[in-house]
Amino acid sequence: MIKQTELFIGGLDVKPQTGLYFDVLAPETEQLFARAAQASQPDVELAVKTARNGFKIWSSLAPRQREAALLKAADIVAAEGKTRLLDILIDESGSAITKATFEINYTVDLLRTAAGEARRLYGDTFPNDNPERLSMVFRHPVGVVAVVSPYNAPLSLLTKMAAFPLAAGNSVVIKPSEQTPVIAIEFAKILLEAGVPADAVSVVTGFGVECGAPLVEHPDVNCIALTGSTQTGIHIGATAMKRMVRAQLELGGKSAALVLDDVDPVKAAAIVAQGIFTHAGQICMANSRVIVAKAIYADFISALKTAAEQLQIGDLRDPKTIYGPLINRAAVNKISQHIAEAVAAGAEILTGGTTLPYPNGEPSLVFQPTVLLNSPLHCSAWRDESFGPLTNVVMAEDLDHAIALANDSQFGLSASVLTKNIYAAMRAAKEIDAGSVHIGMHSFQSNALAPIGGSKLSGLGRSGGAYSTEEFTELKWVSIELNAVL
Ligand code: NAD
Repeated sequence: MIKQTELFIGGLDVKPQTGLYFDVLAPETEQLFARAAQASQPDVELAVKTARNGFKIWSSLAPRQREAALLKAADIVAAEGKTRLLDILIDESGSAITKATFEINYTVDLLRTAAGEARRLYGDTFPNDNPERLSMVFRHPVGVVAVVSPYNAPLSLLTKMAAFPLAAGNSVVIKPSEQTPVIAIEFAKILLEAGVPADAVSVVTGFGVECGAPLVEHPDVNCIALTGSTQTGIHIGATAMKRMVRAQLELGGKSAALVLDDVDPVKAAAIVAQGIFTHAGQICMANSRVIVAKAIYADFISALKTAAEQLQIGDLRDPKTIYGPLINRAAVNKISQHIAEAVAAGAEILTGGTTLPYPNGEPSLVFQPTVLLNSPLHCSAWRDESFGPLTNVVMAEDLDHAIALANDSQFGLSASVLTKNIYAAMRAAKEIDAGSVHIGMHSFQSNALAPIGGSKLSGLGRSGGAYSTEEFTELKWVSIELNAVL
């Protein structure tokens, strides 16, 4: 039977004011997976009002109580994730079982790391020129945080943006992607089961304009945490500035892999293939640009072609499957346009280039692993985020040229450098303008303690561990005159 989900506000299943529900399709089959409540402004109003109350309750609890609830949530996800979350991730977001399992494990890790942060709302003191005065700095939660999340890692990215603000004592209103509402509601239910007060976590499901916009514009929302496209980030960032509320923006990327001339091309190609093709390239930090030293270029592209063509694609529940479908037809159209434009401008398709068919011969949402050679640098395939299994390989004359090509991007999310030469690697790490640089690895790496985020159009702010605590708290200077004459 098709699942129908309601809004989840104050611990209750709430019907949307409009009475409307929208279809959620399973990307693997494009068949109906669920029908989700379509929230609009009045539902958002209720959720934010509830969250204001939730903030009062939750922020007044002792840190150890917030820590305990988040640890319990981690335990529930660890014990029940396989039965409660795995199938939803596979069906709703088209995740292969290995990626879905990774997300569940990462969620546990994020919740445990966030739990630790509940006790670390450290303040500070600083010297005062007047010895009769003391100066202290206190750290406070900001209030209600709007968490707006994407479809590609709909559980772990939501956790990253919700668990840390909760740890600091904020309440959250979650607006998941319209592609993946069901997983968000199940996650919120787990938080409540673990002891987070009902009013401190609500979920409003629906579309960006009707549901997301009234949430981020709401005067009682004190901070916005968006993980999404740069286009949405620019819009939400401008909205936040109009009210002078903070926005943490984790946005798109076009991450480069630098492959220098001292590596084994076959081994490097295997790393790059994983870096671009995992989850069909629907990863913000995917290696969608590969910059290869001239000396090994021919061997590298031959190895990358073989690696791409050997990837197991198909049954999402088979542990050997590296990827399945793109999220929807619009995603297929976008990557197809990028390829067509690059080819018309002179790029060569090394492998891939189109969708695979369903058994009945109709095109599915599964796109072949695709490698373009020599995409002209003005093309969308090189400049814009394709967010699919498409990478562009270009040749570099030397390290300076490779770094210049890596920096030839409006994005600055992540990068990787494959070399055994530590000096070259560290120079690249220093000079590449990106939020993270990974040496000897591909560019999508996660760690609950790391400051994840990007430069340029990849966003503002950093999330993870103590860095999130900084984003979701305010500082207050308090001073006292010891000999005050009153
Ligand atoms: P998206 O920007 O289309 O949507 C993200 C969320 O924003 C959704 O919940 C959407 O409904 C909402 N939204 C859209 N318009 C809005 C508006 N006007 N007001 C309020 N909310 C609005 O992104 P997506 O397609 O779901 O996700 C893919 C994108 O996310 C890619 O660009 C990817 O790089 C990025 N991403 C970034 C990171 C990171 O850590 N930097 C991680 C994952 C994904």
